[in-house]
Amino acid sequence: MKVKAYAKINLLLDIVSKRTDGYHDLFMIMQSVGIYDTVTVTLNRSKRITVLCDTEGVPTDKTNIVCKAAREFFKQTGIKNTGLKIIIDKRIPHAAGLAGGSADGAAVLVALNRLTGANLSNDELCEIGVKIGADIPFCIKGGTLLAQGVGDVLNKVKALRKCYILLAKPDYAVNTASAYRQFDECGKAHTPDKLSMLYAMQSRDLREIAQRMENVFEQFIQVPYKVDIKDVMRQNGALGVCMSGSGPTVFGIFEDKSSARKAADELTSFAKDIIITTPVSTGCKIVEE
Ligand code: ATP
Repeated sequence: MKVKAYAKINLLLDIVSKRTDGYHDLFMIMQSVGIYDTVTVTLNRSKRITVLCDTEGVPTDKTNIVCKAAREFFKQTGIKNTGLKIIIDKRIPHAAGLAGGSADGAAVLVALNRLTGANLSNDELCEIGVKIGADIPFCIKGGTLLAQGVGDVLNKVKALRKCYILLAKPDYAVNTASAYRQFDECGKAHTPDKLSMLYAMQSRDLREIAQRMENVFEQFIQVPYKVDIKDVMRQNGALGVCMSGSGPTVFGIFEDKSSARKAADELTSFAKDIIITTPVSTGCKIVEE
């Protein structure tokens, strides 16, 4: 079974508080975008989980999120794992703040649900997914959603209007755990205006949304060339610019494709991965059975 696993961006990301269990309460307005990994899942009789992925930096052992997701699926459903092969064709830049790993994990849950006949609802799949990662429930459902709690409370928000999203990922690795530690130690200097953003989302006012984008991680994570990338995007007409997830990907929202293209051409000395994409209204999608 082949599943398209779409990436996401965060139009707004706030860490609301640290919980007594050590996790963080989040407030994230998330948007699926048109770049995706293709995850192929096949049941076999090997009694093992084999992962194939030829992208450097993506593990193929049990630390891959797809393995963790598959194990959790079998554990929670009580279905016996007779063996599984998972092939990941990676197009989403990894360790980018675009939920590439979470999207793959979500795709495996969706595939196993169908292949094993477990017939769980999307909500039940999300309950399994959130045990592996905060972004997995969103990646299962996709579109435009408000994610709260540890990422498990999802509510619909009106779809983003058609626009072009320019993604630029500098050649830099972010340590998400240390960013959360900084939040725990120092707190945040500024809290994003969540209510105004929700109003803007509900009125589908693209300009207002783009101007109100904010990511609290930008207070803790320093990304090289972030300021330059944002400048280039703004000079080329971006309605707004922001970092996605825990970075380092920076994105800009554009009304027209030619402006996004022009900005993309000017970003080559600052970013390694540069992609123009559009919002999509779906999460993981089975494309072949
Ligand atoms: P998020 O936005 O959810 O924080 P991310 O886009 O920052 O995620 P990922 O692409 O999920 O980051 O990768 C983070 C790390 O997880 C990688 O450096 C890699 O070592 C590991 N990893 C494990 N499984 C995968 C996978 N299937 N795809 C990508 N990375 C994976």
